[in-house]
Amino acid sequence: MSARIVILGAGPTGLGAAHRLGEVGFTDWDIYERDNRVGGLAASLTDDHGFIWDQGGHVMFSHYGYFDDLVEKMLRDDYDEHMREAWIWIRDRFVPYPFQNNIHRLPRDAFLDCVTGIIDAQHKSLPKRNFAEWITAIFGEGIAREFMSPYNFKVWAHPLEMLGTHWQGDRVPTVDVRRILENLVDDRDDVSWGPNNRFKFPLLGTGMLYERIAASLAKPIHMQHEVVGIDARAKRVAFADGSGTSFDHLVTTMPLKELVRCIDGCPSSIREAAGALSHTEGLFVGVGVAEACPSSKCWMYFPESNSPFYRVTYLSNYSPRVTPGPGHFSLLAEVSSSPYKPEDPADVVERTIQGLVASQLLTPEQAASKIVSRQLMRVPYSYPVPTLDRDAALNVIQPWLMERNIYSRGRFGAWRYEIGNTDHSVMMGVEVADYLISGETETTWALLPGEEARARIAG
Ligand SMILES: Cc1cc2nc3c(=O)[nH]c(=O)nc-3n(C[C@H](O)[C@H](O)[C@H](O)COP(=O)(O)OP(=O)(O)OC[C@H]3O[C@@H](n4cnc5c(N)ncnc54)[C@H](O)[C@@H]3O)c2cc1C
Repeated sequence: MSARIVILGAGPTGLGAAHRLGEVGFTDWDIYERDNRVGGLAASLTDDHGFIWDQGGHVMFSHYGYFDDLVEKMLRDDYDEHMREAWIWIRDRFVPYPFQNNIHRLPRDAFLDCVTGIIDAQHKSLPKRNFAEWITAIFGEGIAREFMSPYNFKVWAHPLEMLGTHWQGDRVPTVDVRRILENLVDDRDDVSWGPNNRFKFPLLGTGMLYERIAASLAKPIHMQHEVVGIDARAKRVAFADGSGTSFDHLVTTMPLKELVRCIDGCPSSIREAAGALSHTEGLFVGVGVAEACPSSKCWMYFPESNSPFYRVTYLSNYSPRVTPGPGHFSLLAEVSSSPYKPEDPADVVERTIQGLVASQLLTPEQAASKIVSRQLMRVPYSYPVPTLDRDAALNVIQPWLMERNIYSRGRFGAWRYEIGNTDHSVMMGVEVADYLISGETETTWALLPGEEARARIAG
C-alpha cells in the first residue's frame, strides 16, 4: 500500500497499531503523542519517594493469543503471575468476591434480605430497560441495596438509570441460587468466577509493557506533539507547537469527544452526537507506607459511603519492585467523579486516608506516622460510560469519520467500555492496521456498532 498512516496517541492502541505495521513490513507511518511518556492510561510513573504507581488498578489478563504472545515477547521474564484475591468491604467485614456467591459471610439479617430478594426477583418478570432495573431484576432488592447499586454508582458516577445493559459481557457476574445455598451449607468461600482470576503484572508496573513495545518500534515516537486541529478534507493534522503532518489514513486514539472538537468544519450533527457521550474523571490516590505489608489481598471493592473510593489495590503485592524497598507497601485508591457525583480534588487525598482508616486498611497510628508518599493522579477520561444513547451517537459519528479515512479506536477512541481493556485496545490497534494494509475485518471493534457503521458506508 502506498499511503501514509498517521497514528495519534502512544497508548496501548496506538502502539499496537505501530507494532503491527512494523511486523508486516509497512514503513510509511508515524505516531504523535501529546505526553512525555508512552502508555496512555496504562502508563506507570515513579514518585519522588521511589514508589511506582499505575493510573488506577491495572491487571493483565487477555482474550487473545496475539496479545499473550506479544506480552511474552516484550516482557520475557519481567512479570509476575498472581491468583486473584478480591474482596468487598461491607458491614465492617471482608466478603470474598464475587459478592453474590459469598453472601453467607454477611450478618444473618442482611443474608436473608439478599436471598429472599433473589428468590422474589426470580418469580417476577421485572423490567430491565436500564442498568438500575437490570440489577434489581437479576440480583433482587437485597443485593441491589447492599452492594450492586451503591458500588456501581461509586464507579460510574452517573445515575444507573442512564446506563444500558448490553455492555456487560463477562464484566458482571450474575446469580445462581443453588450455588449460593451450597456455599452457605458447606460454609465455603466461592472465589473462582471471572476472566481475571489469574493475572499478570509487569515487575515495574503496567507501563513497563508499553515502554518495551515503544522501544521495539523501528522509528521513534514524536513525543510532546499535541493535536489541536484536523483538516479532514486536506488530510492534515496540526500540532500545538505550530507544526503539522499529512495523512492518507488517520488512526486516532484521542478521546472521541476531543477528536470531534479538533476537526475543522465538523457538522453540528456530529458535534451533537459527540456531546451525548458520557465519561467519568478518575482521581487516583497512591498511599505509600513505610511498613511491611499486613495483607496478601489483591484488590477490594467499597460500596459504602464512609470512603470516597470504589476500589483499593495493594499494588505492592503485585511486584516487590514498585516500592522503594523491603519494609514498604503501597495502596492505590480509585475515586470516580462527574457532574452527577462531583469529587473535590483538593481534599480527596485526605478523605481517602480517612476512608482507609474507616475500612481498617490503615490503623490511625499508621495514618498519622507511617505514610511516606501521597500521590494524586488526575485522569480526565477514566471510564467511558455505556449510556442508553451511546450506540446511537457512535453510529452517527463513526461512519462520518471513516468516510474521511479517520479511524477512531481504543478505550476512548471507540468509547465502548466492553472493549476498553488493554488487551482489547492493543488488538483494536493491530486489527485496524491489518484492515488498512490488507482489508481484514476488525473483529474486536466491529462487534457492535462497527458492523452497522461499515454497512452504512458500504451502502
Ligand atoms: C481506572 C482504570 C483501570 C483500568 N484497569 C484495567 C485493567 O485492570 N486491565 C486492563 O487490561 N485494562 C485496564 N484499564 C484500561 C486501560 O488503561 C486501557 O485499555 C488502555 O490504556 C487504553 O489504551 P488506548 O491507547 O486506547 O488509550 P489511552 O491509554 O487513553 O491512550 C491514548 C493516548 O493518546 C494521547 N492523546 C490524547 N489526546 C491527544 C492529543 N490531542 N494529541 C496527541 N496525543 C493525544 C494520550 O496522551 C494517550 O497517550 C483501566 C483503565 C482505567 C482508567
